[in-house]
Amino acid sequence: MIKTNEKNKEILKIEHLTMKYTSGLIRTKITYGAKDVSFHINSGEVVSLVGESGSGKSTVANVIMRFLKPSEGKIFFGGRPVEKIKIKKYYKLVQSIFQDPYSCYNSFYKVDHIFRQAFNHAMPNVSIRERRNIFAKAIDTVGLDPKETLGRYPHQLSGGQLQRLLIARALMFKPRLLIADEPTSMIDSSSRADVLNLFKQLQDDYEISILFITHDIGQAQYLSHRVIVMKEGTIIEQGPTNDVFTSPEHAYTKNLLACVPSIYRKWY
Ligand code: ADP
Ligand code: MG
Repeated sequence: MIKTNEKNKEILKIEHLTMKYTSGLIRTKITYGAKDVSFHINSGEVVSLVGESGSGKSTVANVIMRFLKPSEGKIFFGGRPVEKIKIKKYYKLVQSIFQDPYSCYNSFYKVDHIFRQAFNHAMPNVSIRERRNIFAKAIDTVGLDPKETLGRYPHQLSGGQLQRLLIARALMFKPRLLIADEPTSMIDSSSRADVLNLFKQLQDDYEISILFITHDIGQAQYLSHRVIVMKEGTIIEQGPTNDVFTSPEHAYTKNLLACVPSIYRKWY
């Protein structure tokens, strides 16, 4: 039994994660994507992972999603080592959203194809009627009009709409944890606020935990309960959002804060 829905219970725990990448055939080069990274996420909590490009954020996300096997360290979900959880079950509990919504669609198919695929793959035995209900609920949650979005091709929709459809797809699985890796960075700025507000709404309406990954510390400030700051593969600072923002310990965090556009300041 995986216990994930008790409030304030640890849902995800990462212990001493290290990821070594080796590249080059003759002169092997070793890069550390992550070095001795440890943190946890409680149920219902939004935790932001912030840091400049190349600081190791996606490495951590990819290890949690089990796309990469860590060189060292352990990941626990609901108290169990993740490798003990069947991958199909794991992907219902943990869903992810990535930077580039366009890459998740096949341009030859209308956008509803991604939902059909998800049902066939993860819920093949669910009746057509129930599929309709699950689907309608998910679309409603992300605030899209099915008539204006479904039945269209990816290029006929905005990045923000495509990203919201992907969030709807993720929600259909009723995940306990959502990993969002820079979900707003490739969409136009007018839809960016919509997507960001959708995350805020998920946090209010659902007891879902979110690992929100961003290089934009303003977004982290807007959304999260706790912030983890990464630099060169290591965590240099972590704590409740207000503490990190009002009295950052590290010069790197102060620099990130100095770059926050003023637009976020009026939001809270
Ligand atoms: P971020 O998401 O914060 O931009 P990444 O996790 O993508 O950071 O990358 C962290 C470091 O690991 C970078 O130095 C990057 O070049 C390196 N890296 C990431 N993926 C690979 C890979 N597949 N092979 C070699 N090095 C990689
Ligand atoms: Mg990244």
